[in-house]
Amino acid sequence: MPAFKSIVMGELWMSFMLKERKEPGELKLLRMLKARGGLLDDSRFWSLQKGYRGEVLFDKWFSSVDGEWIVVNDLLLEHAGSVFQIDSLVIGLDRVYLFEVKNFEGDFLLEKDRWYSGSKEIKDPLLQMQRCEAALRQLLRSLGYQLPIESSLIFINPEFTLFNCPPKLPIVFCSQLNRFSKKLLQQSASSGRLHARHSRLAEKLCELHMEKSRYERLPEYRYEELWKGIVCVGCGGMGVRYHYRMIECERCGSKEALDMAMLRTINECRSLFPQMKITTKIIHDWIGETVSKKVIQRVLQINFSLIGYGKSANYVKEPQRL
Ligand SMILES: [Zn+2]
Repeated sequence: MPAFKSIVMGELWMSFMLKERKEPGELKLLRMLKARGGLLDDSRFWSLQKGYRGEVLFDKWFSSVDGEWIVVNDLLLEHAGSVFQIDSLVIGLDRVYLFEVKNFEGDFLLEKDRWYSGSKEIKDPLLQMQRCEAALRQLLRSLGYQLPIESSLIFINPEFTLFNCPPKLPIVFCSQLNRFSKKLLQQSASSGRLHARHSRLAEKLCELHMEKSRYERLPEYRYEELWKGIVCVGCGGMGVRYHYRMIECERCGSKEALDMAMLRTINECRSLFPQMKITTKIIHDWIGETVSKKVIQRVLQINFSLIGYGKSANYVKEPQRL
């Protein structure tokens, strides 16, 4: 059961974040592949990264909004055969807010319910949000909650313009966020304090959340085809130099303790190749033979457990450290 975490404790209001947003696993893996030359088409990476950055900006904005709520971020739910994803769900006393966050940039056009970026038609984000709202309503009813849902499509990027947008649509532009936060505060102030029933709903939704499969949309990649070496923690490049107990990037100048960099690089290998048996020899190859086997063995011994004997010996994560 996730613990409550207080994010705002003003004199009057208390908000809780029950489920914090994490960087999507797919984005992390695509970043690792990109750094090692394993992505022929990186458009999915850039699109995921842009979306995630928009959601982080939204979280930052919402954490400054006064009021009493429970925030449950990034839910993947299923009800009656339909799977739906919620960027941010906020539980107030008398309603549930559903926020769909878009980090679109540039000029867009809305014409007869069709959305265009330049001359290219794109998926209707309002329709996507409405479907999500309908599925959420059914789910809430099945859990015994009749709370109304108030959905908003948030365009978080200040460089976004939507031509032809009727003012009555449930859309909030970046330039309207200040006024929108005042409206939310008024609604919270006029409703009152949350009850245990609201917390139970938030906890139930967290329980129903499904983790995405790591293989869902990953491109094919092979160990032999990826560049070997240590990726810079600062710029994601491969040009790092090794000094005594430190590594330094030739491109951006970022420095990192050698043991930290080694552990990070070992974990990259484990994430990209979960079936691979981790040995000193494999890691020595994975880091491009830039660091001695003695150092690798030390880092492996400190952070992992050795199982098996002889040629089948390999390092695994100790259960208690997971
Ligand atoms: Zn760098």
